[in-house]
Amino acid sequence: PAPYDDAPSRARHAVPFPHASSPLPDGDTAQSFRVLADHLADWESWEDASGKVVFVTPACQRITGYSLESFRANARFIEGIMHPEDLPLWRKHRDMVASGAEMVEVEVRVRTQDGRERWLACTSRRLHDAEGTSLGVRFSGRDVTDRKIMLTQMKHQAWHDPLTGLPNRALCLDRIDRSLHRARRGADNVCAVAFLDLDRFKVVNDSMGNPAGDQVLREVARRLAENTRTIDTVSRLGSDEFILLLDEVRSEEEALITVRRICASLEPPLEVAGRQIRISASVGVVINRGGGNADEMLRNANIAMHHVKEHGGDGMAVFQPSMLEQAMNLMQLEIDLHRALDNNEFFLVYQPIMSLHDRKLTGFEALVRWNHPDRGIVGPSEFIPVSESTGQIHQVGRWVLAEACRALAAWRKLQPSMRGVVMHVNLSARQLSQPGLVEQVAAVLRETGLPARCLKLEVTETMLMENPDYANLVLRRLKEIGVRLCIDDFGTGHSSLYYLKNFPIDTIKIDRSFVRDVPGDEGDATIVSTIVTMGRNLSLNVVAEGVETDDQLDFLRAHGCREVQGYYYSKPLPADGFADWMRAALSAGTAGSASSRK
Ligand code: C2E
Ligand code: CA
Ligand code: CA
Repeated sequence: PAPYDDAPSRARHAVPFPHASSPLPDGDTAQSFRVLADHLADWESWEDASGKVVFVTPACQRITGYSLESFRANARFIEGIMHPEDLPLWRKHRDMVASGAEMVEVEVRVRTQDGRERWLACTSRRLHDAEGTSLGVRFSGRDVTDRKIMLTQMKHQAWHDPLTGLPNRALCLDRIDRSLHRARRGADNVCAVAFLDLDRFKVVNDSMGNPAGDQVLREVARRLAENTRTIDTVSRLGSDEFILLLDEVRSEEEALITVRRICASLEPPLEVAGRQIRISASVGVVINRGGGNADEMLRNANIAMHHVKEHGGDGMAVFQPSMLEQAMNLMQLEIDLHRALDNNEFFLVYQPIMSLHDRKLTGFEALVRWNHPDRGIVGPSEFIPVSESTGQIHQVGRWVLAEACRALAAWRKLQPSMRGVVMHVNLSARQLSQPGLVEQVAAVLRETGLPARCLKLEVTETMLMENPDYANLVLRRLKEIGVRLCIDDFGTGHSSLYYLKNFPIDTIKIDRSFVRDVPGDEGDATIVSTIVTMGRNLSLNVVAEGVETDDQLDFLRAHGCREVQGYYYSKPLPADGFADWMRAALSAGTAGSASSRK
C-alpha cells in the first residue's frame, strides 16, 4: 500500500479536517486530497498507534448520522456503535491488525444515530513508516446494507415457495436430513414424513381458475402451518403437494395421531371466490428411525400417497416395502409401454353386441390387449391407467381407433351383411380432454374409409363430470361429423338424468356389476329394469353388458332391453378368431342384422 504510507503522519499535522468547497484544477496535493476524501462514498477512519482517531471522512457521518467530531472525540467511539453481536468479531480483527497482520477483512453491523442498522464491509490495514514502525490502523468501510438485504431476500427465495411462503423442496429435504440425523442419535426418537396431495385439485383449478386455485393452496398452507408444532415443518413441494415433517416424535402411533389431527384441519369447507368448497387429501406417511436419507423418505411417502390415490383418495396410508415393489413394477411397465407401440405389441379383440329380439349382430366392442414379450397377454385394466398417467394413451388410443375402424371397414367389404354393424371404441378420460380429438377421429375415418355412423365412441359418466362443458362441446362436434356416442358403465357414476338429457348420447350401457346378479338380486333387478325403462323413455339405445346366462338374458328380454353383450354370445375374440364365430353365427342365423333392417 505504498501511496498512502505516509498519510497518517500528514493527517496528524493537518488542520481539523476541512470540507473542501470546490476541487482545484492545479496541483495543491493536500487540497486535492481533501476534495477526494470529502466525496468518497466509503468510510475511512484512521487511528494512530494509541488508538486515537486522527482522520475520518464525511462518509462516516453520512453512513452513521453521527458527527465527525464524535468519532474524533472518543477513542472507543466506533466500538460503541458496533452491533453487540459483531463486537467480538470487530475486536478480534483489530487485535489481528495490531499484532502485525498487514490487512484483515471483516463484515460488521453498526448502529446509526436514528437506531437503524447498516452493514459495513471493512478492510483494515496496518500503517507504518518506511522503517516499518507502526503508525496505527486504517479502516476502510463500504456500506453494503443494500446488498445484504438483497442477499437475504434471495436466500429466502431460494428456500421458500413464493405462493405460500412455506419452505420449498430444497429446505424441506435439508430439514428432513437434519431430523434423520437427530433420530439416529436419540434412541427413542422417530422422524415422520407425511406426503400430502390434494384430491381433485386440478378440477378446482380448471373450473374456477388459477387465482382461485392459488387461494386454495394458500389457505391449505395456512391451516397446515397453524396446526403443527413449532419444531415441525410444513413445506410445499410444488403444485398441490405438501410435506409435513414431524420431528422428535416418540412412536409410530404418536406420529399417525398427529398427522391425522393436522389433516383434519382441512375438513371445514373453504371459502373461495364467494363459493364454499370442500377439499380432501391423500396422505402417505413414512416413519423412520434414522436410516436412509431425505430423498428416500420423500420417495416412499410419495409411493404411499399414490397408494391412497389409487384407492379413491381422501385417506392415509403408511408406507410398506411391498408398495415400493409395486411401484417398481409400474415403472417397468411404463418403460415397456414405450417400446410396445413400435414393436407392434398391441392387438385388438372384438366382442359382439347382439340385438335381443332378432338375435342378430348389431356391433362389436374393440378391446385392446398387449402381448408383452416377457409377461404374456396384459389386460387393459392394467396398462391403460398407466398409459393415461404417462400420456402414452394418446398414441395407444389413436392406434386402437385406427385399427378398429380398419377392421370393420375390411369386414364390411367382405360381408355385405355387416353394413349396419357398428364398432364401439373406448375413449379414456385423457383422450376426451385432448385437444384435436375430433380432428383425429375425422382423420381416422377418412383414412380407413369407415362411414362415421359405423363408429360409436364409449365414454363414462365420470369422464363427462370432470369438465362437463368441455365434454359436451367435444361430444357435440363428434356428433356433427356423424359419430355415435355411448355412455359406458352406466349406473356406476352419478347416473344423472342431466347428462342423458343435455348430452348428445345415443346409447347407454348398463354396467356389468348390475347385470351380474340379475335376476337373483332384487336391488340390481330393479336398477336394471329402471335403466331400461328410462332409456326407452328418452329414446336411447340400451345395451346390457356382461351377460353370461340364460336367466340374465330372459330377464333382460322380459324387461324390454334390446341389446346385449357378454360371454353368453362370445368372449372378445381376435380378428382372425371371428371367421369361425361368424360362420357359426351365420349358420345359426344370429349374425347380419343390419342388411335386413336397411
Ligand atoms: P369395459 O369397456 O367395460 O369393457 C368390458 C369388459 O368386460 C372387457 O374387459 C370385457 O372383456 C369384459 N367382459 C365382456 N363380457 C363379459 C362377461 O360376460 N363377463 C365378464 N365377467 N366380463 C365380460 P377388458 O377387455 O379386460 O377391458 C376392461 C376395461 O378396459 C374396459 O372396460 C375398458 O374400460 C378398458 N379398455 C379396454 N380396451 C380399451 C381401449 O382400447 N381403450 C381404452 N381407453 N380403454 C379400454
Ligand atoms: Ca366399454
Ligand atoms: Ca363397460
